[in-house]
Amino acid sequence: MMDKFEQLMNDVGKMSPGDQNKAIEEYKASCICPTCPTWNKCAEEANEKLFCVTGISASCITELKGCMCPTCPLAQSLDVGVERNTYCLKGSEMEQRG
Ligand code: SF4
Ligand code: SF4
Repeated sequence: MMDKFEQLMNDVGKMSPGDQNKAIEEYKASCICPTCPTWNKCAEEANEKLFCVTGISASCITELKGCMCPTCPLAQSLDVGVERNTYCLKGSEMEQRG
């Protein structure tokens, strides 16, 4: 059985590319990476966040200075962020599950 996070990824995956982008931007607005000491100006300028979905930071984030994912309301609503986190450096939730 799919859990909440997997179900969401599945639902978003079925959307048209345009709707997918819209959904990603909406979820990005709820992501609390901008409050994290690991997040940086490069990531801000590249609109890099929501790493739990999108996977590791392309090039902006290289040094871990803490992770806010365990306290993220969006993550909590999807039952992720505690067992696995630090998504910007370790990969997305689905990638880390292997
Ligand atoms: S779990 Fe982490 S990467 Fe995912 S939305 Fe929350 S703060 Fe952002
Ligand atoms: S994924 Fe975690 S460590 Fe990376 S910027 Fe977001 S809150 Fe910080």
